[in-house]
This record gives sequence, C-alpha cells and structure tokens, in this order.
Amino acid sequence: MSLDNILTNWSRYRKGAEEGGFHEYEHQWGMVVDLNKCIGCNACSVACYAENNLPVVGEKRCGKNQAMNWLRIERYWDEPDLAPYEAIPTANVDAWIEGNPPAKKTELKPSMPSSYLPGLLEQDGQSFEQRVGFDGTKSEFQDFGASFLPMMCQQCHAATCEPVCPVAATYHTPDGLNAQVYNRCIGSRYCSNNCPYRLRYFNFWSYYEDAWPEPLHMQLNPDLSVRDKGVMEKCTFCIQRIRVAKDKAKMEDRKVIDGEFSTACVQTCPTGALVFGDMQNPESQVSKLWSYHQVERGKTKQNKENKELRGYRILEGLNTDPSVLYLERVREV
Ligand code: SF4
Repeated sequence: MSLDNILTNWSRYRKGAEEGGFHEYEHQWGMVVDLNKCIGCNACSVACYAENNLPVVGEKRCGKNQAMNWLRIERYWDEPDLAPYEAIPTANVDAWIEGNPPAKKTELKPSMPSSYLPGLLEQDGQSFEQRVGFDGTKSEFQDFGASFLPMMCQQCHAATCEPVCPVAATYHTPDGLNAQVYNRCIGSRYCSNNCPYRLRYFNFWSYYEDAWPEPLHMQLNPDLSVRDKGVMEKCTFCIQRIRVAKDKAKMEDRKVIDGEFSTACVQTCPTGALVFGDMQNPESQVSKLWSYHQVERGKTKQNKENKELRGYRILEGLNTDPSVLYLERVREV
C-alpha cells in the first residue's frame, strides 16, 4: 500500500464518519455491551482465548503488562461512603504500580484488569496476601458495589492507531473493521502507544512452545495463525468467522442474515450481555439497539432527546468513532 493510498483512504474514512456513516459498503460490524447484564464471569474472555489462539503467558508476564487478553473484564468498585449508583471508574492504580498498595483494605479499588496489577506477584519475598495484609478471613476487596466492563478493541472508524503505523500493518477494512496484517508488522508499537483504550497487545516473546506444548497444540484454531515474537495483535471481532459467513452467503447468493453467526465472546456470554451484528442492516438487533438508545456514528457528542437512555461510547469525544456501544449499569438504590 502506497503512502498516497494510505492518506487518501484515511481522509476518505474520516470524511465518511463525519458525514454519518459508511453507507457505500455492504456491512458495518458493530457491538452492544449491556453492563446491566454483565456478571463479570469472564466466559467471554476465555472464549476469546480459545477462538483466537491467545497464549496464557503466566503470572510473571501478566505482572509486566504482557498479558494477551484481547477481551479483558475491567472491575470497578463503589466508594464505600457514596450512594451505590455513583460508581467511581477511577482508582489509584499508580500506587500499586509503584509497589505501594494502599494501607487500608477498603481503598483497594482497581480500575484495571487484575492481570495488570503487580500486587499479584511476589515482591521482596512477600506474597500478595502478605503485602496487602490479607489475613484469609476477609476479602481484600469490599463485597459490594462491584461492576464489570468488558473491553475489547472498539473498532474505531477513525482509529488513531492506523495513521501512525509506519508500514500500514494496521488498516481499515471495507466492512468497518480495524484490521492488522501480522506479516507486515515490524513491531514498532506506535499503534499501541496511540490507542486511547489500551487495547493492543504485543508479542514480547514467542509463546508457541510454552503455551501449547504437545499435545495441546491440537486445540489451536486452524482458521487463524499463531502470532510470533515482535508482532502486534488485538481483537478482530473474530474476522475469521465474519469471512466464513460472508463467503457462505455469497455462495448461496443471499445476504448475511442477522444472527447467523457471532463472535466467540457473544456466543459464549451466558447472560446475553453482548450483541453483535451488521449496523448497515436496519433490521439487525445491534442496529435497533443503537437507534433505540439514540447513539449515532460519526459524532463526538450525542444529542439525545431522552436523557434517561443508557447508551454511550467510551471516549467518543476523542473523535475515534468507536463501533462498540455500552449500555450503562442501573443500580437499585
Ligand atoms: S461472558 Fe457475558 S456476563 Fe460473563 S463477563 Fe463476559 S460479558 Fe460479562
């Protein structure tokens, strides 16, 4: 892909987003995550590992931010002295990273996935329990006010990771996906630095033999490759499943039917918290949810007539135009 092509397409896609969509294309894949239904079971994350050949890197590498969880469940806790519905999605994770966990147990409110917390590791000869003063009789986290936020690549239509790649290894597909060409990636990690959601994962090591010693290599999904050391990767909305469904529809001379396939996380979620589909199809469940919640593509701020509606997009003010709609959690007071 030439530089001219990259620049032309980038501005074209940006313009498309500003004009309200990519109507010239047949599909635009999108997702809805209902936080009211998510129980934080992590089934979606496990399904993603199995479907996409993600390596389990081990505790120490997780502690060094080298986990390869394309879909992570972020956990938040209410402040003890706040009304239950006033959940606080921020916390002093810096103290943990510096190796100084807060003194009081009630202050432990991680806003990042547990796999990122160095507190899970032994440090200075002390276990995690010793470091936080956990005596085994009481949880280190408060037992109320937990909420969960599944985070996968937001498949932004104006993705900030795309224009910074020096070799165009990440690009926009005609059906609205932010794709990654593994063979082209040189591991500069500019895309990861430029992703405001922190949803790109770098292969610091070659995990093949560690993660899938024989005969576990038999469980690998043959529909996609195992990425090697030095390559960036991220959620693809299970592009291998999308390709199969599109090819099947083409062979049968018909359109892809809403619900005839879904991503691994959506298929696995036991509570139906995740919905996936084609936003170009006005009859799809995902389109109906976007339209019901009055959230529109290509906007940095939504102008909802009904302020009670729960739909929002994460960091949409950055003009990234994400394809994932979140529905706020509702708490009983
Ligand atoms: S599988 Fe569903 S309920 Fe479980 S963590 Fe994922 S989104 Fe939440």
